[in-house]
Amino acid sequence: MKRAFPGRRARLLDLLFPPKCVNCGEPIGERRQSRIFCPVCRQKFLSEITRPCPVCGREYSRCLCKPVGFLPDAFAYSLPYDKEDGVARKLLLCCKSQRLTDAFREVASIMLATAKERGLLPDGGLITYVPRAPEKAEKKGVDQAQELAEELSRLSGLPCVGLIAHKRFSLDQKLLGGAQRGRNAEGSFRLTHAAGSAAGRTILLIDDIVTTGSTVNACTRLLREAGAERVICLSAAKNVKTPLFHPKEEPPS
Ligand SMILES: [Zn+2]
Ligand SMILES: [Zn+2]
Repeated sequence: MKRAFPGRRARLLDLLFPPKCVNCGEPIGERRQSRIFCPVCRQKFLSEITRPCPVCGREYSRCLCKPVGFLPDAFAYSLPYDKEDGVARKLLLCCKSQRLTDAFREVASIMLATAKERGLLPDGGLITYVPRAPEKAEKKGVDQAQELAEELSRLSGLPCVGLIAHKRFSLDQKLLGGAQRGRNAEGSFRLTHAAGSAAGRTILLIDDIVTTGSTVNACTRLLREAGAERVICLSAAKNVKTPLFHPKEEPPS
């Protein structure tokens, strides 16, 4: 069951399994504003995400930094991932290993607000996602970009279709350097049978964290092959530790 239980059932579940803060692990308590953070961590989270990007000085949702050679026609992200003890980082790590509906809903609603603010939510757009390697999705029991894409679809009303699949047994991107990542990513994905529906449309490609951009580039190439008119990448976060980003060339959106 992916959707939150409404009303009485939710209250009963809260009694049996009191929600705990994803950052500090403390029980969230009765008068909560959030189902994922305690009041202290919620405050930390809010101040973290309204801080300026260290590269371009804009708020994260308005940051124009992107990887050099990034292929999508437009790009937006909402959360920082660079601080080792960051609350936003903890939330995203939690999304990689647990199927916490409330966490995905929180992140997706922030992504939606960013997309609206940046004018990146076109009528007739189609949502898809960068799929996780199947062996990893099985091991962790969650494909975080897919969960985010499905939540965004519920919140925006735009359809979500799996247009890209991951081939099995490719190398883990995390263990590779930049050039290797690019070569590995190119061979890691294929179009699904549903890819025909991309023709002539604007595709919103959802990812959780963009680092070097090579997986998003590989997926963007495939989507263009399938006839997509425009590819917009919406990522929950960008890993700003890598020195590959420059804030200058924002494509027209
Ligand atoms: Zn907390
Ligand atoms: Zn920036």
